Amino acid sequence: MPAYDFRSPRLFVEAPLGEGAEVALNAAQSHYLGTVLRLKAGSHVLAFNGRDGEWGASLALAKRVSMLRIGGKTRAQTVPADLHYLFAPLKAARLDYMVQKAVEMGVSRLQPVFTRHSQVARLNSERVRANAIEAAEQCGVLSLPDVGEPIAFPRLLAEWDAARRLVFCDESAEIADPVAALAGVPRSPLAVLIGPEGGFAEDERAALLKLPNLVRLSLGPRILRADTAAVAALALVQAVLGDWNSAPVKT
Ligand code: SAH
Repeated sequence: MPAYDFRSPRLFVEAPLGEGAEVALNAAQSHYLGTVLRLKAGSHVLAFNGRDGEWGASLALAKRVSMLRIGGKTRAQTVPADLHYLFAPLKAARLDYMVQKAVEMGVSRLQPVFTRHSQVARLNSERVRANAIEAAEQCGVLSLPDVGEPIAFPRLLAEWDAARRLVFCDESAEIADPVAALAGVPRSPLAVLIGPEGGFAEDERAALLKLPNLVRLSLGPRILRADTAAVAALALVQAVLGDWNSAPVKT
């Protein structure tokens, strides 16, 4: 793994980044750096925006609007594998965890899907995005996944892009070697689907199994909770087909 600076605080910002740029921090970021971390003016921090790579910056503290003065580039922008993560929303704490882990695992899009047995009827997209940003800041991930508006399962299928291969993690699949199941798959745009705690309804499963380009994946002889299944499935996919193996599939 390339060496990089793990110690300096890393902040996601929206503004364009380049040498000499001045970036105003929002109230939460100013509070975090000034009050929580107690950084002094001139402290070194890192900034990224998902487009321009990672930059060293020096902190200019002020009562109202603290700023970052951008110095030199520390890392080039990376492009994630073209890997969508489709998931049924979970209750708050597990959802936070699942979103954070999916970002660490390098997904390029987070797509909530409401299935019949989803436990929650609404999703706070802002919270999903805040968790994605926090995970990217902590783990040095430079590209933030897109966060899709939640969609209903029937619409997901009706609008499915046949060029994207779907890895359907099915708790009812026959146990079979998951590495072998993925090894035969060409490197193409991918999506991984994990169901809700209540599992998939029979008609949902039947509809999924009719999709072209489907890979039905068993994650072993135990039923995993959805957040565990997410990490297990994304680890398998990244190891066999994704960027754990070699250069990722470009979007
Ligand atoms: N309540 C369901 C389990 C749902 S687990 C039941 O008892 O059958 C939540 C999701 O995690 C599932 O929909 C599936 O996508 C994934 N999952 C959990 N364990 C799995 C396994 N052994 N194989 C494949 N997928 C699994």
